[in-house]
Amino acid sequence: MFAIDHAATALLVKQRYPSVPMVPLLVSVQAMELAWVGLNYLGIERTTTEATVRSVADIHLAYMPYSHSVGTAVGAAVLAWLIIEKGFGRAALGRAVGLGIVSHLILDLATHGHDIVLWPGWATPKLGLGLYDAAPFTAFIVELMYGILCWYVYRGGTGLFALISIGNLANLSFLSPAIPGAEHYLAGRPILAVTLIFVQILVTLVLVGVLARRNTRASTATWDLGRPIAPDRAS
Ligand SMILES: [Zn+2]
Repeated sequence: MFAIDHAATALLVKQRYPSVPMVPLLVSVQAMELAWVGLNYLGIERTTTEATVRSVADIHLAYMPYSHSVGTAVGAAVLAWLIIEKGFGRAALGRAVGLGIVSHLILDLATHGHDIVLWPGWATPKLGLGLYDAAPFTAFIVELMYGILCWYVYRGGTGLFALISIGNLANLSFLSPAIPGAEHYLAGRPILAVTLIFVQILVTLVLVGVLARRNTRASTATWDLGRPIAPDRAS
């Protein structure tokens, strides 16, 4: 899943755990991707491209067993939850961060080509519904609708809606071989692709964080008229 929609997932978690600050939620939903960026820069994980890149199907997440395996993602989520809730006594924060980390795995499994292993060192099975490979344009529609769903559930304002819409539209050329775009320059330059994704992660996390704080739809005003915000069920 693209950066904007992972970032939008923090809105869902925030809605479920309103007392938890936005920053740890934003970091948690992209923790796997930030690990992937670092491990690619270190040469531990590897990305490759076709000789010509016309869509995301031509960029291959060739080796990423540490940042993107079912075992490491679930393990990191459980570990974060245990340390924060049992170690520091912050139940809502621990559960929200654990949920944020594992959300990334679920969303990637729903969109990626078959590139997610169960555990580092296990070559098969490789999981992923394969939307990016088989039906990139369907992936675009699914991601856009998911991003808007996050906005709707959060009751975000116009700025947040614009960000999620534009953030998804900006990826359209990546998801349609028929639409030319900047992806063409990534052929043979996998580290440039990693850097582009890293920049997208940072920009979308900051913008979602800022706009989630400042823009809420008028309907949320009812909270200010006496309807109390539901306390976190975990705290
Ligand atoms: Zn990912």
